Amino acid sequence: MQLTQTDQEVHTERIEQHIIGDIKGGKPGPIMIAVAGMHGNEATGVDAILRVIEMLEPIRHEMHGRFVGLKGNLSALRQNMRFVEEDMNRLWVTSILDKIRRTPYEALSTIDRREVKELLTILDPIVYGKEEVIYIDLHTFSGKGGMFSITPHEERHVELLSQLKVPLIFGIQHTLIGTSMEYVEDAGHVGFAFETGTHGTKDAEENAYAGLLILLVSSGLVSANKLPEFGHYYAYLMEKVQGLPHKVDFHYKHIIEEGDQFIMNPGFSNFDRVKKGDWLANDRHGKILAQSDGYLLMPLYQQQGNDGFFIVRDCE
Ligand SMILES: [Zn+2]
Repeated sequence: MQLTQTDQEVHTERIEQHIIGDIKGGKPGPIMIAVAGMHGNEATGVDAILRVIEMLEPIRHEMHGRFVGLKGNLSALRQNMRFVEEDMNRLWVTSILDKIRRTPYEALSTIDRREVKELLTILDPIVYGKEEVIYIDLHTFSGKGGMFSITPHEERHVELLSQLKVPLIFGIQHTLIGTSMEYVEDAGHVGFAFETGTHGTKDAEENAYAGLLILLVSSGLVSANKLPEFGHYYAYLMEKVQGLPHKVDFHYKHIIEEGDQFIMNPGFSNFDRVKKGDWLANDRHGKILAQSDGYLLMPLYQQQGNDGFFIVRDCE
């Protein structure tokens, strides 16, 4: 593939602000990339990644491969908003990325596209490089309840994520077009989203930190005996995921359209069981009822965003 000379167009300073840390291990191994703040109101992952970097720094010679921690949408993070002009996590479609690479930085139509271009200068050389990449996109949600991973239903993903024991949500990636994991997947790597808890909570940060430790060990970058905190955080996470379903399939998504005035009924959490006909939300056309049985996922309790809620079901 043809890479443009984005490096020279984008100020180095802007690019460096995306990098939380870049730890190169003393031994060969895969490259793990953890990104947080692809949505600017989801900053807890940034703090978790920073803690991982600080933890890895003194043991880098023992580490296999490389760990890169990145901030996503800097402008949106500064304003604590999901995005500035358009959702940065819906732009990672091959044709849009190609357009962003070809368009001069200053001529890009939105701030969020500039952010993507900045990230591409860091990510393209890694993603199209020789090493195996494991890409983790950290997110949080506006509702309450649990944590989960949105992942393709593929063996190598399931194998790695099974050790994390968080619920695996299959098939949602087909309805969320243009997430950054799609870009990484298209290049042949393992990429998934890890939704760690409610926006801005200490819980969401702890869950992200614990999850990253387990993923570092299960992907072979660090051995558990090098991490004094590993046992503690492993037990912590296992307790947190108790009672949550293991593997579920996407079944239904309520799409919010312009002017709908969607309001979720209060009190819903992730993995609440719903029955067909349950009253879940309202918009200006009236009551919104569940169209099928299943578990509720990601009920929307914030202004920005087009997905009202999802219904998922146990894998068959
Ligand atoms: Zn998000």
